[in-house]
Amino acid sequence: MNPNMLIRLLWLLIIVPIAVAFMVVVFVVALMVAKYVAWRVDDSISRRMIERQKLDANGRPYPSKGRGLCDECGGMSEEVFFLPTGRRMCKTCYEARSDAQKDSESQQEPKHDNAS
Ligand SMILES: [Zn+2]
Repeated sequence: MNPNMLIRLLWLLIIVPIAVAFMVVVFVVALMVAKYVAWRVDDSISRRMIERQKLDANGRPYPSKGRGLCDECGGMSEEVFFLPTGRRMCKTCYEARSDAQKDSESQQEPKHDNAS
């Protein structure tokens, strides 16, 4: 074994572990970045879903809700909306009502009373 070969062998013994360690670090960092990006995307999707759950079919925010009896159908529900008018409505009745409201809003025509 000549000294030149010994130096090359030592060089290889130093360089290879450093290169392997570097690749492991790069892999771990890439994995963490990928996980973080996936978490951020998942977070924004769930945030958007939560925001959408707060809005009714007309895009208006739902009134405050709680457990109680529905004034419309008289049924007991886990989710009863407390309307500003003081009425309580379950989700089914509330959505049926807001649909009816939307229909009446679109069918509203300007009335002119020219009886005189
Ligand atoms: Zn109801």
